[in-house]
Amino acid sequence: MTPLPIDPDRMLRDLDHLRGIGAQGTGVARMAFSAADIAARRWLVQQIVAAGLQPVVDACGNVFGVPPGDGPCLLVGSHSDTQPLGGWLDGAYGVIAGLELARAARASGAPRVAVVSFQDEEGRFGGVAGSAVWSGAMSMADADAQTDGDGVSFAQARRAAAEIAPVSDAPPPDAFAAYIEPHIEQGPALDTAGQAIGVVDAIVGVRSWTITFTGQANHAGTTPMPLRRDAVQGLGRYIPALNAALAPLVDARSVWTLGRITVTPNAPSVVPGQASVSVQMRDSDPARLDAMHAAAADCARAVAADAGLTVEATPGLSLDPTPMDAALVALLARAAQAQAPDAWRQMPSGALHDACNVAARLPAAMLFVPSIGGISHNPDEDTRRADLATGLRVLADAAAGWAAR
Ligand SMILES: [Zn+2]
Repeated sequence: MTPLPIDPDRMLRDLDHLRGIGAQGTGVARMAFSAADIAARRWLVQQIVAAGLQPVVDACGNVFGVPPGDGPCLLVGSHSDTQPLGGWLDGAYGVIAGLELARAARASGAPRVAVVSFQDEEGRFGGVAGSAVWSGAMSMADADAQTDGDGVSFAQARRAAAEIAPVSDAPPPDAFAAYIEPHIEQGPALDTAGQAIGVVDAIVGVRSWTITFTGQANHAGTTPMPLRRDAVQGLGRYIPALNAALAPLVDARSVWTLGRITVTPNAPSVVPGQASVSVQMRDSDPARLDAMHAAAADCARAVAADAGLTVEATPGLSLDPTPMDAALVALLARAAQAQAPDAWRQMPSGALHDACNVAARLPAAMLFVPSIGGISHNPDEDTRRADLATGLRVLADAAAGWAAR
């Protein structure tokens, strides 16, 4: 197994250059199809050409760099669009690590590695449109109908794809054998543990409810406490009851969030007649996620009955967990142990990524590097340069192992 002639310093220089396109302070403003995003994708096409790869820009604005030769090859990448004001590494790290890997692989003649930057992962138009259309999870018509906060449709915005390079058909998913998405962790697990690498074994799923307690609105001065049917008192009891109900079901990585509370009529002198709360749960285990979902509604019914209220539970956003390909995970784990001995872990991704869409069509896996302080979607987002380089070495080791398998 010949090591690939990767150059971590060249990757870091490219990352620094990309950071300058749309830079705002220490952050980056490069939303999908903004002038900065187009400029970044044009620059990426130039690097793809210079590396001896075939650039392909599809109608969604996805940018591929494909090596010459026949047969399905390895695809490595992520996205180069950002949040309205995001950090310099979210997405960019995966694209530039993929570029460096593809460039090194091309220079050494093997294995064949392609790079991709998917479009609108950050959801200017709703979320992961580029990889969703490419993988067939969403039709182009459905993507086109999506609009941003200013009412601009994806259909209108994606005309700018032609400013990146002449638009052509993307290579289909079956032109590739597997997908690896390197990414910053965007959470604190690796940094807190002093570890350099996370090998992602699943992307968590989501289940959610809107729980609405209904009592009776009444005068806040004349209604005696024992006669009240106060929806906020019920909601207040629900929060600790939910934590207690979930405790026996969850593991250390399960999360739940009561993120939005609405009170009606929301007036200081009225006993609240209605109180709603959103409950969102995320976990990588489908059975545990379903158990958490059921428990959250059962708990609300028990609290309501006890508090003399009625309750309604309306299901919301639901996404199944996405397991990563076991063989790729094993390959990345071996490479992580070789390049960062005992300084890595296997872990789920708590955030959504393009790999969720791609995993429906190709064996897929993700590699995490630490986020300092767990900070992301923020101009302060950062990763130690040594960790960015270690991630590239793990990737190169895994790619060589993949070719030799
Ligand atoms: Zn990202």
